[in-house]
Amino acid sequence: MEKITQRNGRRKSMTENHYFCMGCGATIQTENHEEIGYTPTSVLTKMLEQEEPVYCQRCFRLRNYNELQPASLSDDDFLKMLSSIAEEDALVVYVVDLFDLYGSMISGLKRFIGNNPVLFVANKVDLYPKSVNRNRLKNWIERFAKEYGIRPVDTILVSANKRIQIDELLDKINEYRQGKDAYVVGVTNVGKSTLINKLIQSIGGTKDVITTSQFPGTTLGQIDIPFDEESSLIDTPGIIHRHQIAHYLAEKEVKKVLPQKELQPKTFQLNAEQTIFFGGLVRVDYTKGERNSLTFYTPQTIELHRTKLEKADEFYARHNGTILTPPTGDNVKQYPTLHKTVFSVKEKSDIVIAGLGWVTIQKPGTIEVWSPKEVDVIKRPSII
Ligand code: GDP
Repeated sequence: MEKITQRNGRRKSMTENHYFCMGCGATIQTENHEEIGYTPTSVLTKMLEQEEPVYCQRCFRLRNYNELQPASLSDDDFLKMLSSIAEEDALVVYVVDLFDLYGSMISGLKRFIGNNPVLFVANKVDLYPKSVNRNRLKNWIERFAKEYGIRPVDTILVSANKRIQIDELLDKINEYRQGKDAYVVGVTNVGKSTLINKLIQSIGGTKDVITTSQFPGTTLGQIDIPFDEESSLIDTPGIIHRHQIAHYLAEKEVKKVLPQKELQPKTFQLNAEQTIFFGGLVRVDYTKGERNSLTFYTPQTIELHRTKLEKADEFYARHNGTILTPPTGDNVKQYPTLHKTVFSVKEKSDIVIAGLGWVTIQKPGTIEVWSPKEVDVIKRPSII
């Protein structure tokens, strides 16, 4: 066991020279601002000089400004943290990105959370055009969850950014948690921090949010937001998921592909043997079939380019990173090689490219999608 000293509310490990955050218990580090326990060196020095309790930046902001910052963990730590939820009697609030359901799924979640009930929260509903039937969307998500072995007690479509259904979400959390704690889990970029910040406003109002932890180094960066004396909403760090397209992009490119506004469909009338590029990220070939209508629901920030199939290889080799962007700069070399998945479409269908949107095909035909191997591409019945 590590020996811990506590002075002025400050905890320090004596066996290794490091400090623990008074709020969440994470080991304080000054290297990586996206990982748990981050504190800028200047702030840490000041806290130590003034003999103040040490907080990581995330807890500091939450305590002082009622504002939560995202944090991420390694796979191992994340799974360790998740499995500790199995030992609790609590509600699991599972936040997923409606725009990237595949990239949002935590495989084996069921095993880690035990028999605790799951409330499925599908965020970013604001991206879906009004023409998309919300019930169909909900059915699709529930079918999807089931494939991953999750049978949520309920599913709710929300938008953290636009504050859609946030009070309803809080009502549902209160209904299903039955006075117990609620753990919020989700991979990075699903909008979990934005959502928790909106929930904090609803729960706390003007009340100060206090972060708490029992033992240093054991909480792995969890943050408690008290509902009342006995129970809390517990935020857990997100995990970077290798099935997310964001995983393959530089930070500023990620900003580009994460859509902020309602998707604007773009329709192309294509003959067989024509190709559409999504920047340099993905290529869609319409290889066989009658003249067809393909509608792309993708972030407006990614330009679509049309070429003839016979010229597509050359076009990509020549223009990837310039006309076809993102990727850009050095990341062109790091972006994975594109792999082909072939779909034979029999009736109006959507081909979903996880994290980048989807293409609706009106009539039968053959579509070949070229994308990084880890990024899921699947066919579903059209949701429009
Ligand atoms: P976290 O990593 O899960 O904590 O995600 P963040 O809260 O940092 O959000 C990741 C990205 O998703 C940011 O670009 C947010 O602006 C965006 N985002 C969060 N909530 C929504 C939402 O309801 N709608 C849309 N369109 N974007 C959202």
